[in-house]
Amino acid sequence: MAVLLVLLCIPLSVALEVNLMNTKLETSDLKWTVYPKDDPQWDEMSGLDEEQTPVRTYEICNVHLSGQNNWLRTNYIRRGPARYVYVELTFTVLECASLERAGRSCKETFNLYYYPSSTDLANDHFPPWMENPWIKVDTVAADFLGRRGARGVSTRPNVKTLRLSGLTGAGFYLGFQDQGACMALLAVRVFYRVCPSVVASLARFPETVSEGLVVSAEGNCVDGAEGSMGRRPTMYCREDGEWAKPAAGECVCMAGREEKEGRTKCTACLMGTFKPTVGDMPCQPCPLNSLTAAPGATVCNCKTGHFRAPADPATDSCTTPPLAPRSIVAHVNGSVVDLDWSEPLDSGGRGDLYYEVQCLECAVNAQCIPCTRLTFSPRPNRLLERKLRVSGLRPRMTYNFRVLALNGVSERSGIGAMGEELNVTTDRDVPLPVSGIQQMAATDTSLYLRWAPPPPPNQPKGNILDYEVKYYEKDQEKPLIMFLKTTASEARLVGLRAGTLYVVQVRARTEAGYGAFSGDALFQTLSHDPEKAQPQVALIAGTAGVGTLLVIAVIIVAIVCVRKHAINKETEYSDKPPQYLIGHNAKLYIDPFTYEDPNEAVREFAKEIDVSYVKIEEVIGAGEFGEVCRGRLKVPGKKENYVAIKTLKGGYTERQRREFLSEASIMGQFQHPNIIHLEGVITNNCPVMIITEYMENGALDSFLRLNDGQFTPIQLVGMLRGIASGMRYLAEMNYVHRDLAARNILVNSNLVCKVSDFGLSRFLQEGSTDPTYTSCLGGKIPIRWTAPEAIAFRKFTSASDVWGYGIVMWEVMSFGERPYWDMSNQDVINAIEQDYRLPAPPDCPSALHQLMLDCWQRDRAARPRFTDIVSSLDKLIRNPASLKITTREQHGTSQPLLDQRTPHYSSFATVGEWLQAIKMGRYEEGFRNAGFTTFSRVRQITTEDLLRMGITLAGHQKKILSSLQQMVPAEKIPSGPGLCY
Ligand code: AMP
Repeated sequence: MAVLLVLLCIPLSVALEVNLMNTKLETSDLKWTVYPKDDPQWDEMSGLDEEQTPVRTYEICNVHLSGQNNWLRTNYIRRGPARYVYVELTFTVLECASLERAGRSCKETFNLYYYPSSTDLANDHFPPWMENPWIKVDTVAADFLGRRGARGVSTRPNVKTLRLSGLTGAGFYLGFQDQGACMALLAVRVFYRVCPSVVASLARFPETVSEGLVVSAEGNCVDGAEGSMGRRPTMYCREDGEWAKPAAGECVCMAGREEKEGRTKCTACLMGTFKPTVGDMPCQPCPLNSLTAAPGATVCNCKTGHFRAPADPATDSCTTPPLAPRSIVAHVNGSVVDLDWSEPLDSGGRGDLYYEVQCLECAVNAQCIPCTRLTFSPRPNRLLERKLRVSGLRPRMTYNFRVLALNGVSERSGIGAMGEELNVTTDRDVPLPVSGIQQMAATDTSLYLRWAPPPPPNQPKGNILDYEVKYYEKDQEKPLIMFLKTTASEARLVGLRAGTLYVVQVRARTEAGYGAFSGDALFQTLSHDPEKAQPQVALIAGTAGVGTLLVIAVIIVAIVCVRKHAINKETEYSDKPPQYLIGHNAKLYIDPFTYEDPNEAVREFAKEIDVSYVKIEEVIGAGEFGEVCRGRLKVPGKKENYVAIKTLKGGYTERQRREFLSEASIMGQFQHPNIIHLEGVITNNCPVMIITEYMENGALDSFLRLNDGQFTPIQLVGMLRGIASGMRYLAEMNYVHRDLAARNILVNSNLVCKVSDFGLSRFLQEGSTDPTYTSCLGGKIPIRWTAPEAIAFRKFTSASDVWGYGIVMWEVMSFGERPYWDMSNQDVINAIEQDYRLPAPPDCPSALHQLMLDCWQRDRAARPRFTDIVSSLDKLIRNPASLKITTREQHGTSQPLLDQRTPHYSSFATVGEWLQAIKMGRYEEGFRNAGFTTFSRVRQITTEDLLRMGITLAGHQKKILSSLQQMVPAEKIPSGPGLCY
């Protein structure tokens, strides 16, 4: 009750009264019905009210006669939407005592009745002029009684409001019963009350007819607001027509909007501010290093070169990858090196700095190879401490250690980690690792082993002093590790358990220290049970050899290692060759078409998403099988995300459905920051959909064309590095993309590039009609992006993907130019066959063009691998000065290049035509106005001239000037027989 009172005390608006009848506004006779009809006592009069306005009144004054029963009935009053109606009476009554003629029956009150009725059916006799069937409202008494005195009549009007409640039919009549009063009915107003439409608490409440004490009305949230927890707010419309505070439910502003103007509006967050979630909190300023592209931001995007890690909340500042670690120091001791280093000068503004150590082993006069068989303690990656012990170094080797500093945004940045390098050369005399340990004999408690001494070192300190044998039980959770020393290249391990597998390693020692331990060798003791006893293969006669054994000591080391660690440490921490690394995470790509039922592959690799979690917002592109849309995905308990939705248009065949979904079963196998991420599929509903992360900037080719000349070489190299990193991952998974091209790379708002398009259908002969894909023997091929061996005999490998990557590099560095311009596919094939290659795009750093040429080597084995490409790009990023050298500054190089096919300007009729051809047609008018209308004048043009013409974009200036410099006569390239058509 207390709550109700509070609610009713806070009006939010002024009530409206809607008149159903008002005698004050009548301009002609009211002509109400009176009773008795033959001798009417109520007289209708005209007069002036206190404001001197003409009014119609009824008067009566039969005070001297008893038994008065005079009725006055209004015309039919329609009640409209109201069930509660108010009657406001303005009247005067004279005091009986002041009236000379007043008898004992004189009254100072009158009665008010009403008669509800669905139609206007009253007549002179009906309803009967008696209390029943009328419903009595009240006996109305005056607060002020008028008097008749010597100086005439003095009166004062009374105003009373009475309520008729619970009306149902379409209308009613009012009846006034006089029983002997002297009175005048000056005005009768019948009305109902309405709470007016109002906006409060972010909701719009409709005009509501007041009913009785309170009535609750539901509001609709204003634009940009939504009901909190799905409930719409309600407010009370009070009896007096005023609203009281919301009773329940609440509207709150959506993400990107905040409440304004007394909770009546949700306005978009201003530029530079954002609001990440729905709620009543205000917009807040963008965190450090982030900004908004438009008002109403739900998140502030990172400025170029700054990033957030996937788990960083939107309220966090944007950060950068760290700089390189400093001052790496190595302490070598025999086959062990301890590395330590100092923190980078800048950790990128984050607290999640960690390190990774990469290692190359370089023998004298040989190529460096990734380190194998080294043991890293605690591990070479995800290192939080600034030190690392590397054991197992081989003698006479140089080890190149690169310590990288990384943090949560290093992968995201697509730029790669900054690293510092250090070379460590091992002592010449440390013995080589022991190999070839053999079991000569075994009993149930001992093993007799022998090995070949490592090749004798030439150096004076090279004599082997002794060996150390390390051994432990294989299948123990926490094995005891035992050591034994021996001067001979053999050892007897005693006191062993019967029928047990032992892991054995041996290392040799010279004066220079220990060499590396051999790899794990496994031997088993004999079982007590003769049935289980294993036959001896190489029993040595007698124990003659044993006599030569000098067992110096058996040291049982109290260090107890976790078995898994001890046995698996090589696979966990060793820097194995690439194919071994794949084995390491044991993940290889599986072709979904190898499944008997490809739907099974979809089930295995793609999550089924409930269709109700997805909201489609707009079409953003056309895919092979249907529209591609942007939408939102809200999985319960997870943050809402923008997603791209590929749909399969209706009327598909089962085969088309399989091909469409095969892309999801391929994509679903990949997890990498530079590979488009699959959210899931919807296969239980129509249309069938594939849902992926949303890439705000769309396809890379069109994105670059749109931003021609707008990115620095370092930004472009950053993008290329991301693509190479994604491709390195795919190559490691044994996946060959076959269609690497800028059109198949997607770019997000942070300029991170991700490899996409894993569909296979466009390669199929009858599939698409896209002219990019040319029909060749055995399928369709994107000729300009494809390596010659793949075109000629369908040899698609990661090396042919590298060729395609070179073309993508060219596309990126030329801001989306078409490879080989308008040459025909057959001309392209012929030119490549004759060792012509694309020239460097304008202003392309020479190092990048060289890398492209490397990717386009005819011999596919000679092309770099993606891992080499990533390293080369990392080097360029670490040394930005190297990007300043462009092809034009490099003299004397004679590459077998294909000339840029921009025809000589003499082949254009006008300057305008030439500008159109180089896509600079927008400046045609400027050229004309500045008088550059002939090629002889255009040839003289300078940067200042271009600036004067308003050509301020550096990229466009370069394009025009380099086009003038590079234009050469078109040369005829001979064409050969074609495999493709
Ligand atoms: P696709 O069928 O993959 O070639 O997609 C057709 C077009 O849809 C692309 O060229 C892009 O413009 C657009 N698109 C596809 N996937 C995405 C995505 N994940 N984010 C943004 N745009 C996309």
